[in-house]
Amino acid sequence: MPQHMPKDTMTGPERLEGVIARHWHGLEDGRIQCDVCPRYCKLGEGQRGLCFVRGRQDDRMVLTTYGRSSGFCVDPIEKKPLNHYLPGTPVLSFGTAGCNLTCKFCQNWDISKARELDRLQDNATPEDIVRAAIATHSCSIAYTYNDPVIFLEYAVEVAKVARERGIKNVAVTAGYIAAAARGEFFRAMDAANVDLKAFSEEFYKRLCTGRLSAVLETLEYLQRETKVWFEITTLLIPGFNDGVEEVTKLSEWVITKLGPDVPLHFTAFHPDYKMTNLPPTPRGTLRRARDIAREVGLHFVYTGNVDDERGQSTYCPGCGERLIGRDWYQITLWRLTEKGHCAGCGMAIPGLFEAKPGNWGQRRLPIRISDQPRGKFGTLGTPR
Ligand code: SF4
Repeated sequence: MPQHMPKDTMTGPERLEGVIARHWHGLEDGRIQCDVCPRYCKLGEGQRGLCFVRGRQDDRMVLTTYGRSSGFCVDPIEKKPLNHYLPGTPVLSFGTAGCNLTCKFCQNWDISKARELDRLQDNATPEDIVRAAIATHSCSIAYTYNDPVIFLEYAVEVAKVARERGIKNVAVTAGYIAAAARGEFFRAMDAANVDLKAFSEEFYKRLCTGRLSAVLETLEYLQRETKVWFEITTLLIPGFNDGVEEVTKLSEWVITKLGPDVPLHFTAFHPDYKMTNLPPTPRGTLRRARDIAREVGLHFVYTGNVDDERGQSTYCPGCGERLIGRDWYQITLWRLTEKGHCAGCGMAIPGLFEAKPGNWGQRRLPIRISDQPRGKFGTLGTPR
């Protein structure tokens, strides 16, 4: 269990309340450095890092959002998006506040740019969250809405309790995490969707104040050193990262470094945050990107955030048969065997599949943790 900062030692306007954080070290000049993400913020007493939710108090790093969430919702797993991980099942999703990237096109900016106090409504212990997952028959818990890397200690603690109860853990992340922290973080996760925002350093620098190379490193790490099932999402922004050359390079990198079986999602941008002057991504752009990635040799390429049943369905790389039909988040066809093989040619399809798909459908069910049943584990049944 994380240790809370003692309240009786807190005085002064800038004192930060929270739990003592991990992954930091002292510097010779008296500052301390956070080693959670590649920003490596160097902080004096009372200062916060760029993510705003980690800061220095009494010569230690603290996480100020432990146990506090910006809201809970039961979503379809396809919304994360994960198309090869327990299809059709519900996932209890939550986030906190803040972010370690500064994307001008952020699609969740009300949460990620929030100062924590104005957004965090629901207090929730790890046990509360797992209890809510059980009560809502969620097969997994998703750490999402804002990047879980910055609330690592909270996410890891929830994940531990969830795993003990047979519930899977899913990270929805931009993959902007430092080597010192990624082992602990991804050991706690079973699946992830990683945003690969573009395939140019210039894009990351100008629009996110981050580095592409750090994200690519995370993706290679996931493939090489973990058993985490992961899929990749690229939000295509008209005129910024949707060119043929860039999409080709991105797809070639994925196939060369990660292999043909990592699913890649091209999703539509909607004008938001600081980029409201752009049009939404046309469906034709997403289809073109999908065609390019498939021609490069990737087996599972999807379009998202648009009407496109063909682009959202899964096809067998062996015989070309349509195996899983999807209309947005609704499963419309299932042609996998009980072991997750193609019912036509018998080819094994990578991912985690149950004998039958779930039937959660498109529903989104917002919940409040405070409204969920309390009580000991075991009195609420077991997750399905
Ligand atoms: S997580 Fe990243 S942004 Fe936040 S304090 Fe640490 S280094 Fe800075």
